[in-house]
Amino acid sequence: MGCTHDCSSCGESCSSRTEPQDLHESLNKLSSVKKVIGVISGKGGVGKSLVTSTLAVEMNRRGYKTAVLDADITGPSIPKAFNIHSRAMGNDDGIFPVTTETGIDIMSINLLLKNETDPVIWRGSLISGTVKQFWTDVIWENEDFMFVDMPPGTGDVALTVFQSIPVDGIVIVTSPQDLVSMIVAKAVKMAQMMNVPILGIVENMSYFMCTECGKKHYIYGDSKIDEIAEEYDTKVLAKIPIDPEIASLVDQGKVEMYNADFMDSAADEIEKLIK
Ligand code: ADP
Repeated sequence: MGCTHDCSSCGESCSSRTEPQDLHESLNKLSSVKKVIGVISGKGGVGKSLVTSTLAVEMNRRGYKTAVLDADITGPSIPKAFNIHSRAMGNDDGIFPVTTETGIDIMSINLLLKNETDPVIWRGSLISGTVKQFWTDVIWENEDFMFVDMPPGTGDVALTVFQSIPVDGIVIVTSPQDLVSMIVAKAVKMAQMMNVPILGIVENMSYFMCTECGKKHYIYGDSKIDEIAEEYDTKVLAKIPIDPEIASLVDQGKVEMYNADFMDSAADEIEKLIK
């Protein structure tokens, strides 16, 4: 009786009801990507790009062909971490990602801008349209894992990206000074709406390991991440210390040289998706 003839907005349950539409975009015909992992955070500056890049480095070291799609259009930090300053090339078939020294394929808005320091002052729809094109127009050849450095937050742009790219799992990045519980709650709700599994939470800047006294110092107070993970029925994948060395490697574009084991358990969990 109350049918609006539009199943996406109508609450009636009738025999002619159609399934919700799958809005995922198709890959370029020359691309193949086995598993897509979205890395999200509640806000900028908590280490989402650091987590994305170290996870990509770890999976690449394990022998998987790995890609990073930098969907953080307004704050693209992936090319800098991998010391990529060249521009992406393309032909009639599509755009080629730029490959890092150790073989990770990267696409980021900074590889398309004339000047990498130009700011991107765009509306949300243009940003999500660009991310869609990174998925549809870039030639991602035989990738085992693609990590998507998502736009910060759980707003409109992040949602549109999730609708267009078929993500197989989400990693949530938080830091202890965040309103962690609220951020995790929002991320969990978004993942449920999008029907994407949450692989777990990475707590960045968790503690500082003092090289002089050998003790862990919880600079931002005691971590509550274990309780929060339990509350939302998910796992803590990693606790990353505040580490000036990693910050300096990222700043110098040498993230591929990082030598620490804090991403091992997160990588184990991600590896399960393909094994
Ligand atoms: P986001 O992607 O969430 O905006 P980034 O990964 O770009 O955040 O990190 C923001 C800044 O903080 C960068 O300069 C990065 O090197 C630094 N940083 C992130 N995590 C750590 C850490 N665990 N120890 C030291 N510096 C860090």
